[in-house]
Amino acid sequence: EKFKEGLAKTRDSFVGQMNELFAQYRSVDEEFFEELEEILIGADVGVSTVLELIDELKDEVKLRNIKDSTEIAPVISEKLAEKLDKSGEDTELNIQKDGMTVILFVGVNGVGKTTTIGKVAHFFKEQDKTVVMAAGDTFRAGAIEQLEVWGERVGVDVVKQQAGSDPAAVMYDAIQSARAKQADILLCDTAGRLQNKVNLMKELEKVKRVISRELPEAPHEVLLVLDATTGQNALSQAKTFQETTDVSGIVLTKLDGTARGGIVLAIRNELDIPVKLVGLGEGIEDLQQFDAEQFVYGLFK
Ligand code: GDP
Repeated sequence: EKFKEGLAKTRDSFVGQMNELFAQYRSVDEEFFEELEEILIGADVGVSTVLELIDELKDEVKLRNIKDSTEIAPVISEKLAEKLDKSGEDTELNIQKDGMTVILFVGVNGVGKTTTIGKVAHFFKEQDKTVVMAAGDTFRAGAIEQLEVWGERVGVDVVKQQAGSDPAAVMYDAIQSARAKQADILLCDTAGRLQNKVNLMKELEKVKRVISRELPEAPHEVLLVLDATTGQNALSQAKTFQETTDVSGIVLTKLDGTARGGIVLAIRNELDIPVKLVGLGEGIEDLQQFDAEQFVYGLFK
């Protein structure tokens, strides 16, 4: 249901265009595929993914001897689901059974990182876990206060220092404090200023180093938060982060705010990082674990 609601914009646009396509082209020919290609690229599926998909569809059409365009509709959703559901990709968060799980959130300012941390905190609180948040974005004005607002809303402690302090020192404090509270989950915010890429990446490395010095297996997840409404830009952000940081999963936010939700396919296909969570609204509950089947269902139903 959440997927259906959150994907309304994408579905209206995509299904609308597909229906027009089927109405316009009765037979599955070269022109049909050209139009389909345009629709998919327009939905931000990404050129290389679209070309792959079209090739596979052409093969299927030959194999199944499909002539009429209406017959190809189920094949398209089948192929989309296949592309999304790459085998072996685990969308589960790596949560420790014993001891504390540390999750680091990285990503550019404005993508929805703080909101996501708040939603994730709420998600774990609902499971009766003890959660602590670390205000590791000491750079952006207001970032610490914003996290505190979420902390109050969710009922979770926020470990902070003053603005401008060393984020690695904040993390050190946060781990000590979370330990003292016997916390299950520590959620760490980080800075997102990409204007100074080299410094940011160095900062993230230092933060990770301090965390793993205190807790050898940690961070257990490094989640890169990307904004679905920025389309192909999100892909290039991911590539930048991937070059220097080990990202273990992606959170794709604001899927509800775009008609071009095909970006999920581009991300799944062009990056070697699983999409683990998706943001489907501004509310505290509007976060879902990614599920390929539900996603495709949400697109077509
Ligand atoms: P940050 O700078 O990355 O920490 O971004 P914020 O968490 O402050 O979010 C920026 C804006 O995006 C806020 O207005 C959020 O309410 C909004 N936002 C975050 N996630 C979602 C989402 O999944 N859907 C929608 N519609 N808005 C979102």
